[in-house]
Amino acid sequence: MQFVIPAVPPATVPVVGTDALFPVHRIYCVGRNYVDHAIEMGATGREPPFFFMKPADAVFPVPYGTVGQLPYPAMTEDYQYELELVVAIGKTGENIAAADAMQYVWGYAIGLDMTRRDVQAEAKSLRRPWDTGKAFEQSAPIGPIHPASDIGAVGSRAIQLNVNGQTKQKSTVDKLIWNIEEMIAYLSQYFVLQPGDLIMTGTPAGVAAVKKGDLMEGSIEGLGELRLKVV
Ligand code: MN
Repeated sequence: MQFVIPAVPPATVPVVGTDALFPVHRIYCVGRNYVDHAIEMGATGREPPFFFMKPADAVFPVPYGTVGQLPYPAMTEDYQYELELVVAIGKTGENIAAADAMQYVWGYAIGLDMTRRDVQAEAKSLRRPWDTGKAFEQSAPIGPIHPASDIGAVGSRAIQLNVNGQTKQKSTVDKLIWNIEEMIAYLSQYFVLQPGDLIMTGTPAGVAAVKKGDLMEGSIEGLGELRLKVV
């Protein structure tokens, strides 16, 4: 195919144990999906799920066993982490029944929903969209994708984020208010899910800011570690 201007290469994420890449289509993010985080953000934890998006090229893949060098973004004084389980979609679907939802899951990864919290807070107060707070470059650091066939049930795996060796977020993924099946069913009523879509499933309590020089180490049992230094 010939393009009239240079085509930006597709965003990709490595797949663990192979040289093959997972091509990213869209990144859907769920808001307030752990009760303790919903409460810390001023909600009750009983609201229906809501979604926002990051562009595909917001991914910042960190290869297995390396420490990603994550640039501190412009236009914020309050750059916050949110450690999340990421679900990778493998096939097209709409109006998916929760009972069928796991057939659409290709794999899982650890991700961070990095946020300009000050910008997001201003957007919230003015009832404006969140894009400048959430959807900027490198706002979705992610570890390699693990095929679902290797992982099995997500169950009640531990999810934990340490910053400079201190535990900041610690929970288990069975504490999601809306589980993976319910999220896929809900999202697929509004959008046609496509192969390459990523769903960031929400963060536990303990979100806070990082600064240049901080080392973030996220882990989810069975999915390895995601290590990043803010530079
Ligand atoms: Mn989030």
